[in-house]
Amino acid sequence: MSHNPEILMLHRVLPVFDADNYYFQRKTAISWQRFVTLLDEIEAKGLVTLPASALAHAIPDSAIFLTFDDGYIDNVEALDEILRRKMTATLFPVKQFVQQGFSPIDDMAQHYMNTDSIPDDTRRSLLTGRLKRLLRVIASDRYRWLRQRWFNIKQDSPGIFMNEEQIRFYSERGIELGIHGVSHRLFTQLGTTSLLSELSESARWLEHLGQKSKPPLCFPHGKFNHSVLALASDFSSVYLTVDQQTEVVGVWRRKWVVEGNVGIS
Ligand SMILES: [Zn+2]
Repeated sequence: MSHNPEILMLHRVLPVFDADNYYFQRKTAISWQRFVTLLDEIEAKGLVTLPASALAHAIPDSAIFLTFDDGYIDNVEALDEILRRKMTATLFPVKQFVQQGFSPIDDMAQHYMNTDSIPDDTRRSLLTGRLKRLLRVIASDRYRWLRQRWFNIKQDSPGIFMNEEQIRFYSERGIELGIHGVSHRLFTQLGTTSLLSELSESARWLEHLGQKSKPPLCFPHGKFNHSVLALASDFSSVYLTVDQQTEVVGVWRRKWVVEGNVGIS
């Protein structure tokens, strides 16, 4: 039985590597080539992919976990390939991203890549600085208002998320769905009432999309604290963070798969 299982975190899987693409700069995309190499390696090592909820129980040394955050549209090809190889994965879609086809950070990222209307010095702020920190705590309407005021952009960029029918399709084929929030705002910044409604609404939504057992939970932006865990325990018993060490029982560290880090470990 393994105490440090490999739990891999992926976001987007894009056709080819592009150094100018925001998602590669942010390390939230890998190329199709990198993805296929990863699956080849899992097969060659005789590892077995399991849904993240299996972490609640004893797991074999051969277990490995594939997780996809946020529900990007390009996950469709990736999940098709996973199913074709008789593997499995856990998908952590965000309710509002899916239903509205919209997320503030992704919208700003696309405007940044596709237009000249965003100043160059905004780029660094969007990647790692104040703009990113702001966008991850505000709701969509507030974001749109600020976007118009700061950049005079009125139009949303084209949607880049899966829709509910697509998510239900994969759920029916054995892809596990996990809680990742309704709005993707930081759980640690929400009051008790808001956090409880994020959790219960997420759980109900996933059930509606076909998730039958208790879902695993992945904290938006990887952030959690003891109050978050106390409220979350009614909804899940497997919690995933980003690429950070954790000693909290029930909270599992994931490895951030990027274009450069060839190999599983
Ligand atoms: Zn996320």
